Amino acid sequence: MEELKCIGCGVLIQTEHKDKPGFTPKSSLEKKDNDIFCKRCFRLKHYNDVQDVGLSNDDFLKILNEVSKEDALIVKVIDLADLTGSILTGINRLIGDNDLLIVGNKRDLLPKPINDNKIINWMKQSLKEYGMKPVDYVLVSANKGIGVEELLNTIETHRRNRNVYVVGSTNVGKSTLINAIIKRFTEEEKDYITTSYFPGTTLGIIEIPLTDEHNIIDTPGIINKHQYAHYLDQKSLTHITPKNEIKPKVYQLNNEQTLFFDGLARFDFEDGPRSSFVCYFANQVNIHRTKLEKADQLFENHLGKMLTPPTTEEYKRLGGYRRQHFKTPSYKCDLVISGYGWITIDQPNIKIAIHAPKNVGVFIRRSLI
Ligand code: GDP
Repeated sequence: MEELKCIGCGVLIQTEHKDKPGFTPKSSLEKKDNDIFCKRCFRLKHYNDVQDVGLSNDDFLKILNEVSKEDALIVKVIDLADLTGSILTGINRLIGDNDLLIVGNKRDLLPKPINDNKIINWMKQSLKEYGMKPVDYVLVSANKGIGVEELLNTIETHRRNRNVYVVGSTNVGKSTLINAIIKRFTEEEKDYITTSYFPGTTLGIIEIPLTDEHNIIDTPGIINKHQYAHYLDQKSLTHITPKNEIKPKVYQLNNEQTLFFDGLARFDFEDGPRSSFVCYFANQVNIHRTKLEKADQLFENHLGKMLTPPTTEEYKRLGGYRRQHFKTPSYKCDLVISGYGWITIDQPNIKIAIHAPKNVGVFIRRSLI
């Protein structure tokens, strides 16, 4: 195939990978139209709608590298239901001396009674461990438009006549947020957004003008290899992504009992007195309880059937599961399966294990709730 480029952003056109830059359906190439847009620019042009495309680490680092040379305000979007999955390690060096503003998105997924300050403190603590010292924090629900106005005000407070770059890993809701911001601006004026090239990459980026000289600039989402999102098809991804406030499910387990979370993770209560386990997963995730001794067989028999997702195809892509053992600490803790959910345990010194894909992070943190 000859090399075709999108006339909107200049990216190379391809027809294979929907979630990668430059995707265009084959059918639209067959129209023999000279004006070929990638799907992202097409949607932007026709619907004022931004779609995120995942970018490899290298291209993302190139972009950030350029940004670090500029004096700018960096707005980093984090998914509150997957805090660690949405922290981009290595971002610090590239942000340079620029100010960092953290947006905790999907506030609606966390139980309403939790105080916002508590959530912000929890974010502060977690980010500190990664060496991040943000200038401010804002909580939003991008898909409900909640907190967007406050975010824009906070951006204005910290912008100090500079460009604003919005960064985040895929699936944190960055495009939903950008769309909410665009909506807020386009209420006043149509055709507000533009795309332009970014130095050193082929991908066009989206600019929302703030003044004649400064913009809010949407950078492409970075694919985080530690997220389930990287290995699952859209259907499964939709299944595990929480849509509404997460309703915790409580299990009282005796030792040597097991819980399956669909087929994507397995929790073993190996040793300790009868204890309570509070599970925070997307409401549609099915939890199956069984005896530890029967768990291996159950998995073998039901993977891709009762235990779906993953499909057998996705299971192969996930590259096998790893079993990790933990002993609970003296304080109330969350056992987190990054990008999927967490289990709150208020019982010290019990032995537990998690089986999860080997690339997915599993760890214990002080309980959020
Ligand atoms: P991106 O890859 O970062 O651009 O993420 P998207 O904007 O495509 O959003 C990823 C998923 O999160 C989609 O299923 C969105 O509907 C969902 N989402 C985005 N913002 C919110 C929010 O504030 N609350 C909830 N519950 N879901 C959200």
